[in-house]
Amino acid sequence: MVRGILLIVIDCLRADHVSAYGYPRKTTPTIDALAENGVLWESAHSTSSWTKPSVTSILTGLYPSEHGSFEGVKRRRNHEAVTTDRLGNIPQTLSEQFTGAGWRCGAFINNAQLGEFAGLNRGFDTYIPNAGKADNLIGLFEKWLENAPETPSFGYLHFLEAHWPYKPRRRHVAMFGGDRDTNEFSPYSAREFGELRREVTRKQRTLDDAQMTQMIQMYDGAVRRLDGKVKLLKAILEKLGVSDEFAIVVTADHGEEFLDHVSIGHGHTLYDELTHVPLIAQIPGGPSGVRVDGPVSHVDLAGTLLGMAGIENQGASRNLLSADQPPRPVFGELRMGRRYQQFARSARWKLHRTCKFEPTNGEIVRGESPRRLFASCAQNIELQLFDMLRDPMEQRNLANDAKYSGILKTHINDLDRWWSGIETPDGDVSLSGGDGSLSGEGAVAGEVEIDEKVIQRLYDLGYID
Ligand SMILES: [Zn+2]
Repeated sequence: MVRGILLIVIDCLRADHVSAYGYPRKTTPTIDALAENGVLWESAHSTSSWTKPSVTSILTGLYPSEHGSFEGVKRRRNHEAVTTDRLGNIPQTLSEQFTGAGWRCGAFINNAQLGEFAGLNRGFDTYIPNAGKADNLIGLFEKWLENAPETPSFGYLHFLEAHWPYKPRRRHVAMFGGDRDTNEFSPYSAREFGELRREVTRKQRTLDDAQMTQMIQMYDGAVRRLDGKVKLLKAILEKLGVSDEFAIVVTADHGEEFLDHVSIGHGHTLYDELTHVPLIAQIPGGPSGVRVDGPVSHVDLAGTLLGMAGIENQGASRNLLSADQPPRPVFGELRMGRRYQQFARSARWKLHRTCKFEPTNGEIVRGESPRRLFASCAQNIELQLFDMLRDPMEQRNLANDAKYSGILKTHINDLDRWWSGIETPDGDVSLSGGDGSLSGEGAVAGEVEIDEKVIQRLYDLGYID
């Protein structure tokens, strides 16, 4: 049994850029060592492809349609109020379960999407959404841990350094054959990177191979730098004499695209570069050097962490370390503008189902639950099926090939069964009405208004035009 759990979430870390997952560059020596001494899930998937819905799934054990936190910020027509989804009225979060069992919970986060407005602070005695850069964030965590070393503790640390604009050390870029001083993307601010991403997505700007090589050198360098912070955290646990009582779990909220399909950055598709994430756990007295095949989802991380702590789980999230768990497909969702997307992933296949709304459906894009959105565009659905064994980069769509019609049907049924079993939270997801541009006064049920400071932080991150 462990007396402490350190959950490290590295924003934007795609699994195939982690050396323990076979990436040829040695980006993550410390994380690799955790895998060698623990468990690595080969096919772990986030429930969405951007921070808020994904992290809410990690901290609740629920899919986005269940927890209700789907959309980003929405600026109302008068530009005076900005609202966003927040966690719906669910019975218990992961941290509330820890707290109920006598654990203390601290969250040390560097991501403006996860401010208190997102509703994730429930159950945390300490919740710092603006903990700053890695060293500052680690310092806050260390102080919190030192305060009550005897109490079982769950620490959630969320690092942003692998998020655009990548700011690696010079030596980490050099490790991967690059030169930070001459790298085209070195001077980019988050705001400029967000703008570049928008232009690339709209096909107003193209990036050639040489530019992508440079961008990836910066990203890999940033990942390598963060790996050093994981090493620092290990050293802190050792210094405090608790390293043989603390489990360390490393994952990412989602991945990052480098023109694999349509753009750069994240939050726009559900292809594997954005949903296949690392998941590694080093558990004192636990399994060592184990690599688990078969798809698993972040919705089962909560149950797994509670299992490590020996706490009886009140929710539906499963314990991935328990031997009697049969494999099952995993799912994901993304609601963005005029699209609602889902995926189902089995051991070998991945099905994408996308609803595209016609402009005439604009009035229902905002202000409806995903279930009603989905029903309203039933005749406007695009399917993509990929053989992840032969085509792991998801380039050859087999959905229209009669040879695979049986597999297609099975996966559509999986999606439908999952979807029909979902209960939406009380206070349905974002209920504002209007023509897509939002109107009305103040926040409505399931939404919350956010203040100028948060808006500024999101603007600085490149998330608001
Ligand atoms: Zn993120």
